[in-house]
This record gives sequence, structure tokens and C-alpha cells, in this order.
Amino acid sequence: MNKMRLLVLVLGLHLLSCQESTNEKNTNNSPSETKEIPSKDLHTQCNADSLSIRHLDLDIKVDFISKKISGNATWTIQNETHQKFIRLDTYDLTIDSVLVDGAKTSFVLYPMVHHLGQALEIPIQKNTQQVKIVYSSGSNARALQWLTAQQTLGKKQPFLYTQSESIYARSWIPCPDGPGIRFTYNARVQVPKGLLALMSAENPQQVSDSGIYHFKMDIPIPAYLMALAVGDLRFKSVDARTGVYAEPPMLDKATLELSDMGRMVNTAESLYGPYRWGRYDVLVLPPGFPIGGMENPKLTFATPTIIAGDKSLVNLIAHELAHNWSGNLVTNATWNDFWLNEGFTVYFERRISEAMNDKGYADMLWELGYQDLVATIDDLGKDNRNTWLKLDLTGRDPDDGLNDVAYEKGALFLKLIENNVGRARMDTFLKNYFAAHAFKTITTETFLSYLQQNLIKGDAALEKKLNIQAWVYGPGIPNNAPRADMERFNKVNTTLQSFLKGTSAQDLTTQGWTTHEWLHFLRQLPDSLSVSKMKELDDNFHFTTSGNSEIGAQWFIQSLKTNYQTAYPKMDVFLSAVGRRKFLEPIYETMIKTGKKEMATATYNKYKQNYHPLAQMTLDKLVLAK
Ligand SMILES: [Zn+2]
Repeated sequence: MNKMRLLVLVLGLHLLSCQESTNEKNTNNSPSETKEIPSKDLHTQCNADSLSIRHLDLDIKVDFISKKISGNATWTIQNETHQKFIRLDTYDLTIDSVLVDGAKTSFVLYPMVHHLGQALEIPIQKNTQQVKIVYSSGSNARALQWLTAQQTLGKKQPFLYTQSESIYARSWIPCPDGPGIRFTYNARVQVPKGLLALMSAENPQQVSDSGIYHFKMDIPIPAYLMALAVGDLRFKSVDARTGVYAEPPMLDKATLELSDMGRMVNTAESLYGPYRWGRYDVLVLPPGFPIGGMENPKLTFATPTIIAGDKSLVNLIAHELAHNWSGNLVTNATWNDFWLNEGFTVYFERRISEAMNDKGYADMLWELGYQDLVATIDDLGKDNRNTWLKLDLTGRDPDDGLNDVAYEKGALFLKLIENNVGRARMDTFLKNYFAAHAFKTITTETFLSYLQQNLIKGDAALEKKLNIQAWVYGPGIPNNAPRADMERFNKVNTTLQSFLKGTSAQDLTTQGWTTHEWLHFLRQLPDSLSVSKMKELDDNFHFTTSGNSEIGAQWFIQSLKTNYQTAYPKMDVFLSAVGRRKFLEPIYETMIKTGKKEMATATYNKYKQNYHPLAQMTLDKLVLAK
């Protein structure tokens, strides 16, 4: 998944509600107390640690009228330790019946546990092979967003897509929903005729006349990588291995924007070894998608907000592609180890971007990431337990605890290692790491021990320079953090100073600036900038009408801070269409912080139904809280 933005307000409210004690207790943990962090996955109620759950046969129907997925899930298991029952995760599912090796059997659906859902317990025998659950999804399925035709780009057909990470697969499939449990799957999916269905599997490239699709995923994956999308979709290939799915009005534009995908996969392979998943395709979703991208195997799900028209935002695809090594191939064992998925992916993503562009380009990405990290840690507080790489999400919905730290502090830690051992040694180490742990799950501690054995190898001086303990089991940004070369941003700073000292906007030196230079420029503008100065910038650079979502969102934030009301109508259109939390959260938050709470509430109530349930969960706390 690409970066989210965690707001202090959101977290603050959360701490005040149910997690106060957990966090308070942990705030002052010293590294010596790290043994207390549970290594068991506390976000699944499944007993997969004592059973072998190997394969799923899914047979479901997608009904846009009742907004339900219904059908059956058949799990192939092996009960080597003679367990008396199998327990699976469910959330808001209706269980109609359960069959064990073909015979109808009783089952227990336990009461709802906050954020974990209801454990489904089914009695089994020592020789039980198949457990079939007949079920349907509920109206609170957190993974599912049902779009009306009006909410799509084409406006002709409804649309459904899933977002299963981190613990939401259980809201559309009864399953062992922990990142440490891998299984293969086959699926038969029935959808209304004329629509195309796609999954994280081998995918069709054409619409089926019957509305029935068959999928096969013969590489074992964890449940958070289960994915489904159904809509008026078409396919266009980029090259032999890569292609794009999108709604017809978006297809040509998206394919053009993503035309370097083949080269990107080749670049990634040249860095860290073979891409092991067969095809690499990207599905460009309608604008309500709550995140930037999701690394569903074989088929990355992506927001259309990366289609800027000039390829300037496609490094998000580099991120999702990189997950096919860090995350999909080598998977964090629990959500407490999330930095192993995301920190590695951000590091890898920037290496791909550097290889495809140049060092100066990657340096800008590193610096913008550093700014994000500083802002997140400022929000959380520098001693906050949530700023450790090794998290403690005990008793919490992982979605509330996963923030920029896993991404940016994690990547920075790897950059620090690279700077100390040299790029060649680092790359050999990472390539071997991916090969040694392929299709396995890994804890932070397993990684650290692999690092000791294969890279540090008793080099006490190196170990001292890295100060691993402070990075992994300590708060904030350690003082040996590396910083990127600021050459290109220093030029932006000079331009900005000259503007603030009175040079007119039209005389500023901005030739050849990329999106990243503009972002840095906009982020550094003072909150006190006058409306006339804002207007001058807008008249010259047309930020209000920018088709670039990153620049647009940053400009709307600045407009709110400076009361530049000319931008508000366009901001309203943006908020009506875009569902990406990375943009929604800071815009709504800025409204509230700048005394425009009524505007935030009215706008949110107007457009709430356009946002995915996960975005609604976040924004309800931010905007509607008293
Ligand atoms: Zn990611």
C-alpha cells in the first residue's frame, strides 16, 4: 500500500477513546523492554498456528442491487495435530450453513470483538479435508466499495472493488486473515452481464458473455492480498508482460501514462532478482479509491489521481511494483512488523526511480519523504511509541496505527545501512534476503538476525555506526539519520526567497521544474502569505486549475491557510470526486484548524457517500467528532 497520512487529531481521538492505557503504558518503553511485544499475530482469531490451511475454492455472486457478495468458500485443510475445530475470521458476514467434507454441520459464530469481527468456529475431525462455508457479506463490509454508475467515470455501469489490507478480507470472505498465513486459490465469480471481473490472480482480458469468470492463483498469498474488482472495464497491453485495465474513457490516457511499465519491471528485476508473479498489470480505479495504490499480486490497484498527463506521478507504480518483492514475496509476519513491508518498499521504489531517472530526481523523493516523516513525528510527539519501527498494535485496529513511520523511517534506516556498507554490498545483501525468504513471512527479529549474520558479521564499528536499537526499538528520528542531497531543492528555496522578497511571480526562475520541485515550493510557502500574493502565484502558475492531484491538493491546503477563496469552488469539485485519504485528510484537517469547521462538516456530509468505508472511518473521527 502506498503511504497514508496519520493525523494527530485522528490519533489523539483514538487515544482518548479506547487505547489510552495501551499507549500510555508503552510511551516510555526502553529498548530493554522489547521482549514484551507479542510476536504472535493478535489481529486474527484463526487457529492457523495449529492447522494447515492451504487452499481456497471461492464461488461467489456479485449482486449490485442488494450490494452483497454471496456464495461459498471451501477451505482445504490438513489437521495434523488433531485439532477439534477450525476457527476463521469473519466481519459482518451472514453464515447460512457449513459443510465439513460434504456433511452439514453445526458451527458457532462468536460475538463481535471490536475491529476483529466474529470468530467462526467449526468442529472438525483429524482426517477432515474440506470445510465449506455458505455465506453472504453484510452492509458494513469494510473492504467493499459499491459505486453507483453515477460515481464512476463512464457513468453507465455500477462498480465494485475491494481493499483487503490490513484486516478487511474477512468482511467479504470467511478466512484465516493474518499476513503470516498463505494459501492458493481458485475462484468462480458471477457478475452482471457486460461487466468485467478481475482478481489478484490470472485475469481475463475480455468481457465474458455469460458474466461468469474463473480465476486461478497458484502462488500462495496471505488474505490481505485477496482482491476483486467488477465494472465496465477494458484491457490494453503495454508490452508482452504488462498492461492496463481501466474504464473505457480512461483507458488510452492511462496506458499512455503507464507506457514505461515494462521498463520499470525490467529495472526492478535488475536490482533485486526475478519478478516471480507472471504478468504485471495495473487496474486504474474510479476516483473514490481510498489509497494511492494496493499491491494486489499480478494486478496492482491504483488511484486515477496518478494520471497527471506527464508521467510525473508514476513513481507510485514503482512502489506497488516493488511490493512484489517486499510484501508479496517476503511478507511481514504481523502488522507490528509492517515496516518490513513498507520501509523496504519505499527504499526499493526510490532505487527504481533513481535507475529510471537520475540521482537528483531520487534525492527529491527522499527529501519530500523526510519532510513527511518530520511532520508525522511532530504530530505524534517525538517520544511516542508509534514512532518505533517495531510497532505494538495490541488491542487496536491496525489501520489506526500504521503511519508514515513504517514507510519513511523504515526506508531511511535501509538508506543508512547502504551509506555505511556501500551500494554494491547492500544490493547483494538485499537480493539474497529476498531469495532466502521468498514466499515466507518474517518478523523484525528474524530480519535483524539475518542482517547480523549476513552483513554486519561481527563488525563492531559498523554496528555502532548503525545504532540499530535506536532505529527499531526507539522513538523519533535517530541522530545518525542520512539526509538527501538538496541540490535541486536549494534552487527552489532561492526562487521562493526571491518571491517573498518582492520579485514578481512572472520573473521567477522555474523552468524545467517537475512536480516535486513545485511541491517543495508550495510546502514552504508561509501561512501568512497575503491573498494578493496567492492570486499572483495563481495567475501565473494556474495552481487552482492544475490537473496534477498532488499540486492541486497542496495548493488547496495553502488556500485554506491564507483564506484564498478563489480556489474554494475547485477544491469542492476535487473533494466531491477524489476519495484518496492522502488528500482528503490534510484538506479537511486544515479546514478545521483554520476555523472552518462548518465548511468541513457541510462538505463532508455532502460527499461522504462518494468515499470508501475506510476513508469514511478515518474522516468520521476527524470531521464529525465533537
Ligand atoms: Zn506500500
